[in-house]
Amino acid sequence: MTGAFENHGRKSLPGKGRFLFASALLIACAFFFVSAAPGEKFKSRYVKTREGRRACVEGSIFLRVPYPKKGGLGHVAEKYMGDRKKSNLLLNYNPSPKKKRLSEVRILLKDLLPVYQVEVVSALFPDDRRVAAGWQHKAGDETMAQLAKWFCGSTKKTESLRAALKRKVLRKGDVVVIPEKLLVEPFKGMKPEVEAPPPQAKQEPPSQPAGQPSAGPVKPPFPPPSEMSMDDARKLLEYGKDDAGEYALYHLAKGEALYSSVVIRFTGRLEAAEVNQLAMEIAKRSGITDVTAIPAGYAVKIPMDLLLPQFYPSESPTYTEWAAHQKDLDGIINTYKNAALEGVVVILDPGHGGIDRGAIKNKVWEDSYVYDIACRIREGLEAKTKAKVFMTLMEPTKGFKPIDKPGLTPNRKATILTHPPFQPDSSDETKSGVNLRWVLSNSHFNTLKNSGVDPQRIVFTSIHADSLHPSVRGTMFYIPGSKYRSNSWGYSGGLAATIKECKKAGSFSMTDKELERAEGLSKQFAKRLEESFRKNELKLHPYTPTRDHVVRSKKRAWVPAVLKYNIVPCSILIEVCNLNNGEDASLMKDPLFRQKVANAYIEALILYYS
Ligand SMILES: [Zn+2]
Repeated sequence: MTGAFENHGRKSLPGKGRFLFASALLIACAFFFVSAAPGEKFKSRYVKTREGRRACVEGSIFLRVPYPKKGGLGHVAEKYMGDRKKSNLLLNYNPSPKKKRLSEVRILLKDLLPVYQVEVVSALFPDDRRVAAGWQHKAGDETMAQLAKWFCGSTKKTESLRAALKRKVLRKGDVVVIPEKLLVEPFKGMKPEVEAPPPQAKQEPPSQPAGQPSAGPVKPPFPPPSEMSMDDARKLLEYGKDDAGEYALYHLAKGEALYSSVVIRFTGRLEAAEVNQLAMEIAKRSGITDVTAIPAGYAVKIPMDLLLPQFYPSESPTYTEWAAHQKDLDGIINTYKNAALEGVVVILDPGHGGIDRGAIKNKVWEDSYVYDIACRIREGLEAKTKAKVFMTLMEPTKGFKPIDKPGLTPNRKATILTHPPFQPDSSDETKSGVNLRWVLSNSHFNTLKNSGVDPQRIVFTSIHADSLHPSVRGTMFYIPGSKYRSNSWGYSGGLAATIKECKKAGSFSMTDKELERAEGLSKQFAKRLEESFRKNELKLHPYTPTRDHVVRSKKRAWVPAVLKYNIVPCSILIEVCNLNNGEDASLMKDPLFRQKVANAYIEALILYYS
């Protein structure tokens, strides 16, 4: 997953025309901005960031975020620029929301908080990095003046940059190093990445917290996170309150690191920049000045509102509500049993493809590798069981045959198997592609159900790989948390109007009870997957391998769209591994590992139906 799967569906809104309306607004905005900047020679480029926001170059670099439901530009300024009062700056490059209904807000690179500047630049220039001498940049279509504006703070630095780089113009593909003395923050303050270790363990160094150059908690190699069950970890927490509010107290054990043993474990956050930032916050709150030298036994204060619900005090409403919900889910049982999987239908959805290669880290990218795993699952199910398989996606030049090679070519021709088939070939179509996946799955489900198939016999599985904090390893399973879904939704208009499955089955609804049942069945299958992955000696995420939503900053939590809008009761999204961890990434290149994952999946499915 690359965060692409967040989808801002609204509760109980009629589906028809919503998406069309949104795209019309987008197009209108695009025209507005193009006409507002005449004569500039550049190719506008839109890229999804790892967090699912949009980064773009439209002459200048912007982050594009949805216009908030509440709080207007003030809210955007507070969240992304660090100060509500800076909202007037937004009017320099966005139409006034009073005059025009905005669907997205653009925020100029230099106006963004450091963490978002790094997010945007890493998305637009995935090959760039901080090296000892300065900022290493791989040139695209931009001019020397643009490079000066973005990284040196002003076009006035163009001549100095030319002199430093010893060239008049930039050519596409040139790799240059902008010297440190010309850089502006946050690029100047970032820690240079460590040079690559010896080839047998080639690993991309971790991203550093923006604006926190000196005391980064992340220093490879990472101590492995301590293995401990959630219940045991919970018993180690004490609770208290000080002037800054309620907190949980955790005593760091010997060899434990703040980011993995505290942040990742107790807050559930996984995204690199966020983990590093929270480690800093927690360090500050705990009176730690040097995060690299915390003595064993030191009491770390974790603000209560950062905790996952399962780590709240047992008498708190947050915990009791969470525990009661888990108990309800555990009472939901799949009653269809057939160990040969006769009558079982599996809808397999390999993530990404086409222009969207998914997460790209350590020279491995998602689409081809997760596709190969899906093909292996399909092949295994058809050879060893009586289950029937539907694929949502095909790469016509590869077919469904697994490829026994370490390095795979990108799935450029990946096609979603709707009627007519759909090949996403521009980044704007990636989101449409995601919607088509769940529509296709729902359409299969309806057809099967209408022909008398017991819904319990149908399973949906989407296969992805993640890009997380580099200390994290192992597989994770996402299930559709009922709390994060709506009761009705739809996909219509625009592209949907041309696709048979959308016309026939574009809008859906589920009752609260059905949503809870879906979560319960999916949780049950996830538990079987955990068992089977362990048995096959595949590494699982050390703390909470199964999650009912993606945990991000305090107010952002969501269920990936292929699950959120999927009506198949048993639905799972597998994040096979963390490509931002060198060891995990090299595993993906090993066909034996991909086969092992496929085998473990098939065994889990058999367990689920036995
Ligand atoms: Zn993905």
